[in-house]
Amino acid sequence: MADISFIHRGKVEKEKMSPVQIRNIQGENLSDLLEYVNFYSPFYRKYYQSFGVSPQDIRSIDDIEKIPFIGREHLEAHSDDMICAPRSKWIDLCPTSGTSGKSIFFPMTRNDHFLFSAICARGAKSLGINEQDTVQIMFTSDNMMQPTKIMTHMFQFNLGCLALRVGPVGVEKQIKILKELKPSIIFGFSTYMLSLGRELQKQGFNPAEELNLKMLLTTGGTIYQHRWTPTTVHKETSKIWGAPFYSILGSTELNTGMWECLARQGHHVHWDYYYTEIVDPDSGKILPPGSTGELVLTTFGREAFPLIRYRTGDITSIENIECPCGKTNPRIMAIIGRRDQAVKIKGTLVFPQQIEETVLAVPGVSAHFSEVGYDQSGNEQITITYSSDSEETEKISEQIKQTLKSGFLLTPVIRTASKEEVEKVCAGLPGSKPSGFFDRRKNQIP
Ligand SMILES: [Zn+2]
Repeated sequence: MADISFIHRGKVEKEKMSPVQIRNIQGENLSDLLEYVNFYSPFYRKYYQSFGVSPQDIRSIDDIEKIPFIGREHLEAHSDDMICAPRSKWIDLCPTSGTSGKSIFFPMTRNDHFLFSAICARGAKSLGINEQDTVQIMFTSDNMMQPTKIMTHMFQFNLGCLALRVGPVGVEKQIKILKELKPSIIFGFSTYMLSLGRELQKQGFNPAEELNLKMLLTTGGTIYQHRWTPTTVHKETSKIWGAPFYSILGSTELNTGMWECLARQGHHVHWDYYYTEIVDPDSGKILPPGSTGELVLTTFGREAFPLIRYRTGDITSIENIECPCGKTNPRIMAIIGRRDQAVKIKGTLVFPQQIEETVLAVPGVSAHFSEVGYDQSGNEQITITYSSDSEETEKISEQIKQTLKSGFLLTPVIRTASKEEVEKVCAGLPGSKPSGFFDRRKNQIP
């Protein structure tokens, strides 16, 4: 009978194997995984049959392209039939609500629990977390918040840390615990840590001076933008608390934790637990390493709720070259947005809001709008029109050009206009400053 024990292939030094060794093991894991879901899950069995795909078709990891994608819509419609473990083997559940309002439950077995903990422990160890550490956990682990509960157990049982399970309580209680128990690590939502830090300063408690924190840890929201540039929240939070800030990539569906390492070069993917792909959000074609596209994940070794070629809807890129920390596993870079917010310009995925923010951040720009259309030769072109109170428009135009080139690989045409003209075009759009993004391609024939 099929079981999930294949996950233990590879044994030691998993994170320093050569790419060829890794891909060979992943190919075997994928074939076994298909056999596993064919055996236990009515959904996967029928779904793959309808596409004429069977485990025998998988001879190497490259054959993953033959397997059809699944998405959020499949979880919503078929989650009961996707589960591969009987209820008697479940030890925990994490619910999430679907768009129809019906909950989707992600059950976990003991094996899932142990594996998730072991995977996270690897990430934590690579950040130097050990039994000397006291971790103040500002997430709740009640209300079926399964991943944070497992993370708490991981700190305690896999690493031997002292876990202070404080949760997101009021400022007074946080200060009391910070002062009395002096944690070396705090772990919570980035926005919560930022507002708490500001509040502490207001109350005359300076975390950077009065605590000796080793690091801040967060999950559930991005603290990097573009490929791997710290966000404003990242920089300010780190400054207030006087400690480096590290990110763990996770989600309820995937029930995962992919950790940043000390080299700060992306979230390391534990390749024996996940297979990651970046695909074109429109065509679904696998894109070459380094490209920006939609993240697709396959879970190896998840017993109750395996996901195979799951389209996450997240837009990011993957680095496959060896990290300065010595690990050879791939790294998922910053999640820069959701699939349905992205626009493709000259084959590059961009987010209108990011372009707006970037242009507005250039000193001297008071208002602007961006337009995507076709030039006279039928080539796609982005035009930035801005107004400024400054005389130095030549310098400002050049800076906008350079910023868009380095941040988005775009070469825009730059125009200046009066403030009135920009305001007229942007009238009725949200935002405190006039700015807007218009895709004119639909109305133009290339
Ligand atoms: Zn690394």
